[in-house]
Amino acid sequence: MTDSHSRESVQVTRRILVFFALLALLTACCALTWHIAWQRGIDELRRNAAARVDRTTSTLKSTLDRYEYLPYLLSRHPFVQDVLAAPDARNVDRANRYLEDLNRRSHATATYLIRADGFCVAASNWRGPDSFVGVEYHFRPYFVDAMKGGVGRFFGLGTISLEPGYYISQPVYREGSHDLIGVAVVKLNLEWLQGADASEPLLVTDDHGVIFLSSVPSWKYHTVRPLPQSVEASVYSTRQYAQQPITPLPMSVVETLEGGAQIVRVGGGLNAPSFLATRRSIGEPDWQLITMAPLDPIESAAQTAVVVTALVFLSLCLLAFYWRMRRARVREMIRSREMLQTAYAELNQRVAERTADLSQANAQLTKEVNERTRAEQDLRAAHDELIQASKLAALGQMAAGITHELNQPLAALRSFSDNTRVLIDRGDQAAARENLEAIASLTERMGKITNQLKLFVAKARPKNARTDVARALRNVFAMLGPRLKNVTLDVAPELEGDGAAIHVRCEDLRLEQVLINLIGNALDAVASCDAPRIVIELDARPDAVEIIVRDNGPGIPADALPHLFEPFFTTKETGHGLGLGLAISSAIARDYGGTLVARNVVAPIVADGPEGGTQADADRSHGAEFVLTLRRA
Ligand code: ADP
Repeated sequence: MTDSHSRESVQVTRRILVFFALLALLTACCALTWHIAWQRGIDELRRNAAARVDRTTSTLKSTLDRYEYLPYLLSRHPFVQDVLAAPDARNVDRANRYLEDLNRRSHATATYLIRADGFCVAASNWRGPDSFVGVEYHFRPYFVDAMKGGVGRFFGLGTISLEPGYYISQPVYREGSHDLIGVAVVKLNLEWLQGADASEPLLVTDDHGVIFLSSVPSWKYHTVRPLPQSVEASVYSTRQYAQQPITPLPMSVVETLEGGAQIVRVGGGLNAPSFLATRRSIGEPDWQLITMAPLDPIESAAQTAVVVTALVFLSLCLLAFYWRMRRARVREMIRSREMLQTAYAELNQRVAERTADLSQANAQLTKEVNERTRAEQDLRAAHDELIQASKLAALGQMAAGITHELNQPLAALRSFSDNTRVLIDRGDQAAARENLEAIASLTERMGKITNQLKLFVAKARPKNARTDVARALRNVFAMLGPRLKNVTLDVAPELEGDGAAIHVRCEDLRLEQVLINLIGNALDAVASCDAPRIVIELDARPDAVEIIVRDNGPGIPADALPHLFEPFFTTKETGHGLGLGLAISSAIARDYGGTLVARNVVAPIVADGPEGGTQADADRSHGAEFVLTLRRA
């Protein structure tokens, strides 16, 4: 119990550790992916931004360079010389037309001439309502610079037009001298720079860091670095950016990358956009062109890469988990199959053992059955032998009986015939006749014996014969006729009346023969009785019928009882009984599936009680009872 508990807790701990390890690995993978994706994105962006800034810088530079010499050429022109030397109407008009024409051809914004006192004398836009002619410019830095003999370069809002422009100025000297008579100025519009894609801002700062060109309008006239107070004042005094308030752009540098590019964030708050700022100096004038490439795409690409990595990682984890589960299941399956095989083998072995046991038991049983069969055969043989022996014994007994029975009449016959011969010789006819009559009666008796024997050995009788018991009894009474006169006959009512006949399975003659024997014996038994009485009862059951013949004679002596049914057993005097009646009767009953039983009756059957004699007399004369049982038909 504790063992499984501790194993479980170890497993849980292991799972937690694996979970945290996987989490750490996932975090590391995501971080690495982020870093790589970010780095790649930044590198590419840096390359693109560098190309863009270089391209834009060169375009701007070439534009500026193209106009760089225009004021100088202008300063050498005679019309310019003339109008600055003598600004009369003719010269002014000529100069105006010339400037107008030049301006149109050079695609400059405006071209004009400022006298040494700071007033504009001629301008390309002399016809327009916002003509520069007559306007004072002595405070403009490009005028100041040119009047100092240098080239003036300045970006600022126009004092009249209030449009931003780049001013290039050259001093104008009187031809052939060093007299500075005025300044020639070309104003360029650089607004096209601002037309760049606002999503990738482009801005140009002047030497003080003030953004004067920007594709994001709201960034314009802000500084990228704090403006010194003096500079701020001069910006106001020169009306460089009109009266716009110059405030710093809320831009913070997050990281400075290799090659000078910087990751900057513009604005405050968490959602402030980040850019990759790439700067290039224009050179002369001291401007800086800055391209700002937004980092959003890189961030989202890195995020996507991280998500993909996380998904791949999770998929791999799931795959590993699935694989582990599968492996465990396969292992489990293999184990259960092995267990099954072992169990199957064990079962087979057990079955084999059982089968062997059973075969052994079967063999034993077969042997026993054989032995039994042999014993049975032996028994049957012994039985047959016994039957044979008893038959032989019966035959011997019978032969002895017959010899005994026939010897006496034969001896008597011889002596009678010898006597008869002597009597005939003597001439005593009467005595001779008497002897011959005795001989005849003796032969009749011998015939009777052989007849009875014939009956005894008669062949099997038909078994399905049926006989009405009452009718058979009536025939028997008719045959016995005169012998029944002195006897009280008590016959069961079923056997007297004309009720439904009761049939038994027996041939009529055989039944009559049995009944004659039984009733004849009863008559013999009651011959010496004072009140002879014979009772004939019937017990008819559904399957069998009992016919009981009872008398009130002396009964059967105990020593005679076991031998009653033996052939030639008789207790009667010589000449009265052959001793075959009961033997034949029981054989007939047996032949038809019935029985014949003899017994002495227990209670006296004399209806009028023991008044006729003493109690001892009554006890002695219980009488005999023969019960013939036959199958009912
Ligand atoms: P038999 O009548 O010729 O003697 P049985 O076989 O009929 O031959 O009878 C055999 C013997 O059974 C008789 O000798 C007699 O002793 C005895 N016996 C038969 N019936 C009766 C009876 N009703 N009462 C007493 N004894 C009987």
